[in-house]
Amino acid sequence: MTIPLVNLHRQHEELHDEIHDAIASVIQRADFILGAEVDAFEREFADYCDAEHCVTVGSGLDALTLTMKGMGIGPGDEVITAANTFVATALAIQHAGATPILIDHEPQTYTLDPRRISSAITSRTRAILPIHLYGHPAEMDTIQAIADEHGLLVIEDAAQAHGARYNGRRCGSLGNAAAFSFYPGKNLGALGDGGAVVTNDDSLAQWIRAARNYGSTVKHRHAIRGFNTRLDTLQAAVLRVKLRYLDPWNATRRWVAARYSEFLGDADVILPAERENVEPVYHLFVIRCEDRDVVLQQLQDKGIGAGIHYPTPIHRQTAFSGGCYVPSPPANTEACCDQLLSLPMCPFMTLDDIEEVAHELKSALVCISRVAQKSESSYGI
Ligand SMILES: *Cc1c(COP(=O)(O)O)cnc(C)c1O
Repeated sequence: MTIPLVNLHRQHEELHDEIHDAIASVIQRADFILGAEVDAFEREFADYCDAEHCVTVGSGLDALTLTMKGMGIGPGDEVITAANTFVATALAIQHAGATPILIDHEPQTYTLDPRRISSAITSRTRAILPIHLYGHPAEMDTIQAIADEHGLLVIEDAAQAHGARYNGRRCGSLGNAAAFSFYPGKNLGALGDGGAVVTNDDSLAQWIRAARNYGSTVKHRHAIRGFNTRLDTLQAAVLRVKLRYLDPWNATRRWVAARYSEFLGDADVILPAERENVEPVYHLFVIRCEDRDVVLQQLQDKGIGAGIHYPTPIHRQTAFSGGCYVPSPPANTEACCDQLLSLPMCPFMTLDDIEEVAHELKSALVCISRVAQKSESSYGI
């Protein structure tokens, strides 16, 4: 790939010495599980999110699952979320023992459509789980108002939204709790798996702190039936280095998005929109176009690492057959899953890269419309 979807090589070249020093110091102290480096990262990331607590865990999936378990959400309960999301959002609801209730997203921002929530609420509903999808914050005030009216919890899936702001506030501090992922390709990514729960709820934080570590916060005392899902100390050391660059990286992502929108202003595609009250962090730059699969293939042939997020809505995945509920057909989700196209996006793209992607995308679109015209005129013969 000449222009990959995400360029992790460049990121690690730039931070080579700092990352290697951080890893070397962990090895030198032979301190590999939890410990000072994990504590320090948790303090720094909680502060970054303007929240009281950050409890790190082994992955974003575990962060979501333990959040729900810690809230006492389980069998017989329902959690409302979006049908267009990464599979982990809905899997976590199932792993907690509850049922995912899948509704549509807003057509412009691809985030949970608040207008669809009320009619999906039943006596079993316990929580609403909006996703800040592609790095664009969900409409949290409206969602919170609905939750308050019905006595529901709000859990943010912030796995794609480290640093994004909603009405000036950071994602991660907007609901009862938020789950983050530090999968390598995320805006803040480790050199392997990692995740965190961020919350202002003291008792939830305390429960997850025990649950991630065999149910124990005091050696040899096991208060609950815990798991082994901890952030590696090595990863915490790496994340502390990268956290210092997160804001400038996110600023560059927004710059890349603005250049894409400029270059593609006259193209026959639907560009991502920004709601007025948010500062998105463009984990992905997702457009919509006709003949998506042909366009995608042409881009890949030219060495451009475009992708699809996500080609199959949750309720059409085999793992969820009989294991989720769709109260009404999610028309936007169904309409866009064959049109979504993610263009390369990362903080290390140059203006030339962005222009090249835009140019190749436009060529692919022109090429397709010529083929279409030709086949139309041949019908006339
Ligand atoms: C990446 C991601 C997750 C899961 O994170 P992992 O660390 O891979 O388990 C959950 N939700 C969304 C929206 C994601 O993008």
